[in-house]
Order: sequence, then structure tokens, then C-alpha cells
Amino acid sequence: MMAYIETMRSIVYDAALHIDRKYDDYYALASIAKLTSVLLGMDVIRRAVQLTGAYGVWSNSKLNRIYRDAKLMEIGEGTNEVQRMVIYKWLSRYLG
Ligand SMILES: Cc1cc2nc3c(=O)[nH]c(=O)nc-3n(C[C@H](O)[C@H](O)[C@H](O)COP(=O)(O)OP(=O)(O)OC[C@H]3O[C@@H](n4cnc5c(N)ncnc54)[C@H](O)[C@@H]3O)c2cc1C
Repeated sequence: MMAYIETMRSIVYDAALHIDRKYDDYYALASIAKLTSVLLGMDVIRRAVQLTGAYGVWSNSKLNRIYRDAKLMEIGEGTNEVQRMVIYKWLSRYLG
């Protein structure tokens, strides 16, 4: 879980660097960071819920709230599918 969190941090900083330096692939890097972070983030919270057993799915628990918030991140500000389309659009410039 720690490895996933550090991976997320690195790709978000990398996307921010591309935006700061005005590289023309910044939008693809932003989508890659968002997509990868929500996929890894969902796995981290899924494991945390599993580790705590029933507490994690109890409706008043903090983990339950984080689990639902993480799921929202797969939908808000561009769904996973939309991020994949943006990444494909960028890739298609090179793939022809
Ligand atoms: C936390 C959060 C914050 C939000 N904030 C805002 C906000 O500030 N402003 C705002 O206007 N909206 C906001 N939304 C709404 C959000 O933008 C929409 O929920 C999102 O765009 C999905 O649209 P939809 O719910 O109508 O689902 P639909 O468009 O019906 O999509 C349903 C599913 O089908 C997939 N899908 C749709 N079309 C395609 C396609 N062509 N190819 C492949 N898959 C496809 C989608 O990815 C999704 O998984 C927010 C949502 C959340 C969860």
C-alpha cells in the first residue's frame, strides 16, 4: 500500500512538472496521473477495508467514507474511460 501511495505521489509530481514546464504532452500526463492514481488509490482503500474486516464496511466508519470518496474519484473530473480516451488521443499522434 505504501509503495502504491509513493507511486501515485511520483506520477502526480511528474504531471505537475510537465504543466509547469509547458511541455505539449502535459494533458496526457495529467490524464495518466489521474487514471493511475484512482486505480491504485481504489486498491489501497480496498485493502485497508479488507484489513479491518467488518469495521471497514460499517456505514459510520471513516474507512467506509474514504472508500466511497475514492470511488467518486473514478467518476468526477473525467471518468476513467474519459482519461483513457485522452491518453489514446495523445498516443495516436505517434501510432498513426
Ligand atoms: C466527486 C464528483 C464531482 C463532480 N463534480 C462536478 C462538477 O464540478 N461539475 C460538473 O459539471 N459535474 C461534476 N460531476 C459530474 C461528473 O462530471 C459526471 O458524473 C461524469 O462526467 C459522468 O457523467 P454521468 O454521471 O452523466 O455518467 P454517464 O455519462 O452516463 O457515463 C456512465 C458511464 O459510462 C461511461 N461512458 C460514457 N460515455 C462513454 C464513451 N463514449 N465511451 C466509453 N465510456 C463511456 C462513463 O465513463 C461512465 O463510466 C462530479 C461527479 C463526481 C462524482
